[in-house]
Amino acid sequence: MPIYEYLCRGCGAEFEAWVRKPDEKPACPECNGSELERKLSLPRLHTSGTHDLAMRAAKKRDAAQAKEAAYTQRQYELNHDD
Ligand SMILES: [Zn+2]
Repeated sequence: MPIYEYLCRGCGAEFEAWVRKPDEKPACPECNGSELERKLSLPRLHTSGTHDLAMRAAKKRDAAQAKEAAYTQRQYELNHDD
């Protein structure tokens, strides 16, 4: 089962979730919302301390960008129902 990273469009929380099917969407653990942005899952093989910190900084940056991209992504999904 793959791990996916999600960004909640309702409250902005980021979390990871196991999904059994590619189209399965979990609920946000923070607000129980279902408007989620699925991010690319990253292989979690190289987890050194420095890498973790770098990833955390990158995630913060990505989160800001993801919020901006969320609306565009939403429109894309609405028009490309796959
Ligand atoms: Zn939420």
